Amino acid sequence: MFYELTDLLTCPRCGPAHGLVLLVQEVDDRRVQRGWLGCPDCRTDYPVTDGVADLRLHPQTGPQARPPHQDEELALQIVALSGLAEERGYLLLDERLAHTAHAVAELAPALEVISVSPAAEGSRGERGVSRVLSELRFPLVEYRLPAVAIAPGGDRELVAAAARRIAPGGRLLLFDAGDEDLEEVEASGLVILAAERRTAVAERELESVAGLG
Ligand SMILES: [Zn+2]
Repeated sequence: MFYELTDLLTCPRCGPAHGLVLLVQEVDDRRVQRGWLGCPDCRTDYPVTDGVADLRLHPQTGPQARPPHQDEELALQIVALSGLAEERGYLLLDERLAHTAHAVAELAPALEVISVSPAAEGSRGERGVSRVLSELRFPLVEYRLPAVAIAPGGDRELVAAAARRIAPGGRLLLFDAGDEDLEEVEASGLVILAAERRTAVAERELESVAGLG
């Protein structure tokens, strides 16, 4: 997990207004390999193990690591549509797109990819990818990310939660998006820039979140 990601993570119990404090036990080139993320509010300590932050409220034990399978074409699309190919910044992937995290990070080396899913995808935190285990979508501060990519497939709650993470000027990328998902995009205050088949790109306009800064 990228060291500075701590600034964006929030307590899944206490909500998006409650940030976490990092206690590092092992760090390697600004990536936390081992440590704890503590909530000053509810005093829960969440472990960072093998570079992966585990914010799950009910961690599963036993086998969970599926072998990572790459999807180069999808990763290319994510990078291209994000507009961040040459940029520094964060790109958040939901559970259904987490398997592309490594490929996305390879294509856009200046980006830090955050993947949030309830089960481990791949075994370790790797360069350019911060993996966060969480049932919650998403244990992250609101209105701060330049890009979020999701595959909602009719899950309007997911669309709304993702939209709330997008910074002014940032983009929401949708794969496997239905009409109801696009309705939710607009209800969330984003503007749809392009939609073709079940893929869409939306943007939060720069002046749309008054008072945030
Ligand atoms: Zn808490």
